[in-house]
Amino acid sequence: MSLANGREYLAIPGPSVMPDRVLRAMHRAAPNIYEGAIVEETAGIARDLKAVAKTDGNVAFYIANGHGAWEAAISNTHSRGDLCLVLATGRFALGWSMHAERLGVELDILDFGKASDVDLGRVAERLAADTEHRIKSVLVVQVDTATSVKNDIAGIRRVLDEAGHPALFMVDCIASLACDRFEMDAWGVDLMVAASQKGLMTPPGLSFVFFNDKADAAREKAGLVTGYWDWRPRAFPQEFYQYFGGTAPTHHLFGLREALNMIAEEGLENVFARHEVLARAVWEAFDVWAEDGPLRMNIDDPSKRSVAVTSLSIGAPYGNELRQWVAANAGLTLGLGIGMVDRSNPSSHGFFRIAHMGHVNSHMVLGALGGIEAGLCALQVPHGAGALEAAAQVCAGG
Ligand SMILES: *Cc1c(COP(=O)(O)O)cnc(C)c1O
Repeated sequence: MSLANGREYLAIPGPSVMPDRVLRAMHRAAPNIYEGAIVEETAGIARDLKAVAKTDGNVAFYIANGHGAWEAAISNTHSRGDLCLVLATGRFALGWSMHAERLGVELDILDFGKASDVDLGRVAERLAADTEHRIKSVLVVQVDTATSVKNDIAGIRRVLDEAGHPALFMVDCIASLACDRFEMDAWGVDLMVAASQKGLMTPPGLSFVFFNDKADAAREKAGLVTGYWDWRPRAFPQEFYQYFGGTAPTHHLFGLREALNMIAEEGLENVFARHEVLARAVWEAFDVWAEDGPLRMNIDDPSKRSVAVTSLSIGAPYGNELRQWVAANAGLTLGLGIGMVDRSNPSSHGFFRIAHMGHVNSHMVLGALGGIEAGLCALQVPHGAGALEAAAQVCAGG
């Protein structure tokens, strides 16, 4: 007998839960790629993606996961030897910057550790020291999916403006788009990368580079642009196939169209608000469990936590054991802890993550928390009492 039989909840931070509506939209025969729905709907998909990113700028599609968008973003804006200032708050800005380095871009890395957001004062100092404006770009993630920290993107723009620094401002919103509030134009972001499989609730395999005119002017001079990754034909196509540099990703587009419909029907503000309340319910539960026992959230300050994912420690071997227990007994798949310590280090088994991104509601999140509580009981991990009541109070509007 297993209590896991029933609908499962994939709570790893991407891919996220796929709505039935998205799955149904994809369940159809191969369409013509020269006329009909796919051709007619792609411009509307681009328009609606830009609405989610809150930008009047441009968007290029890539048939690639987020790593592809990373490389596209760099190659369209940089030349060999350009200097990029990397603001690292965990794993993902470093991952993106490694692609830049492989392309010949030089890196200046400011590392803020694994439990803090970007320190604006240190960025200001670094920019002030760059009197010759050697720094061509500033690269950061809005949400680091390993540490679950959320960076102050508008604040970094303010620091760039106060320094009068012309660097291109590039942000990775792969984990956070349509979960944590993000306003590309209002926050002065020049370039943003996103992918289909997290807040956008669509299978992995499509990614996007959003860019403004300043970034497109950098594209004019970039020495690393290649035919396939060039964003110009994709963002400004003369022929339909140019959107995708070849055959359209037909079923991804059907799925994404439906996901964007769902976001529009709910309203983006409501999407943000739902994520905020559900995240608070999760944090409330973990705060209560932490009162008596080893569970700790990685980011202390709630205002610096992403509302899409929460990263935790519980001590080895309980992180792994808890993940295994809830998968086998609750139909709940939690995320591995990544990037906190080396995988070969036994203490790496003491971390886990829970995603609360995309197509999730209160019964799913409360159910996941209930499954975790059952796991803590079964594994005899000490934990404070009353966590589920506390989380329910948040969902009740308390
Ligand atoms: C998931 C993620 C990526 C990587 O996306 P892939 O689709 O796996 O290539 C990059 N950055 C962030 C912040 C992410 O959460």
